[in-house]
Amino acid sequence: MMQLFIPLNFLGFVYREIRGALANIERMFDILDKQPKVVDTEGVHTKEVNVGSLKFEEVSFQYNDRPILQGVSFEVPLGKKVAVVGDSGAGKSTLIKLLFRFYDVDRGCISINGQNIKAMSLQSLRRLIAIVPQDTVLFNDTLYANIRYGRPEATQQQIEHAAKVAHLTEFIESLPDKWQTKVGERGLKLSGGEKQRVSIARAVLKSAPFLVFDEATSSLDSRSEQAILNALRDAAKGHTSLVVAHRLSTIIDADMIVVLSQGKVVETGHHTQLINAGGLYSHLWRIQNEQSTTN
Ligand code: ATP
Repeated sequence: MMQLFIPLNFLGFVYREIRGALANIERMFDILDKQPKVVDTEGVHTKEVNVGSLKFEEVSFQYNDRPILQGVSFEVPLGKKVAVVGDSGAGKSTLIKLLFRFYDVDRGCISINGQNIKAMSLQSLRRLIAIVPQDTVLFNDTLYANIRYGRPEATQQQIEHAAKVAHLTEFIESLPDKWQTKVGERGLKLSGGEKQRVSIARAVLKSAPFLVFDEATSSLDSRSEQAILNALRDAAKGHTSLVVAHRLSTIIDADMIVVLSQGKVVETGHHTQLINAGGLYSHLWRIQNEQSTTN
């Protein structure tokens, strides 16, 4: 019986690996099968941009006749961090989808260094922006390979540096298999906070002038939250960054906060200004503080 145990156990392992790989391939084909809504128009430019500012001017957008954003204007100056906050469903993530041109604005304009993004090729636009999405897609592979996914041609030194900026090194070194640790299907073996830091490391590795962070809604314990905060602060250095935040504690240090309500900008300012103004932001801040003291 024992003689059979080892080969059967090995076969089980092989089966699980193949099933995991097939699941990854299926997901990849799902993504590839999606027909893009936005395609390049003729005469778009593919100029490289190394640094930049970002501007939303009177942006309006609707999904299937349902107005989502109405006349949204704000600017993210070169090297600054701007945060967008507001109620659930206010249209925060939609701003990011428009910036990536997953959809085009109905009215108004989004520009980078004064250039309408519609005049850029999709490839050159997306090369400019490193994103940390709400739901990080991790592959059933090693931590090393999952970080390298941010720039497949990166050197080991660059990958290790990105992990360091994302405050992941200590965690990786504490694991028995270190960089070779398998993250499990969809990163199931990692916590929500660790997954987000892998995603921050990928974004650092991409080394793009713009950093966009779409904060996950899932709640994190205060240690994980602090680790992400530190990672994000270091990753944003030298970048122009746009943060969609759910936890207001994440964006106290932002150069400007844009408060959205039902698709409209209702307030702008930095944390202290908005708290003193006593509007929607200070209301949201009070609610979040009450929740954190009762939890
Ligand atoms: P949250 O804080 O909950 O993440 P949000 O402010 O980021 O919310 P969005 O994700 O921008 O909100 O969504 C704004 C509105 O648009 C929501 O009511 C949402 O249901 C709707 N919406 C989002 N994506 C689509 C879509 N692809 N098709 C139709 N409606 C959508």
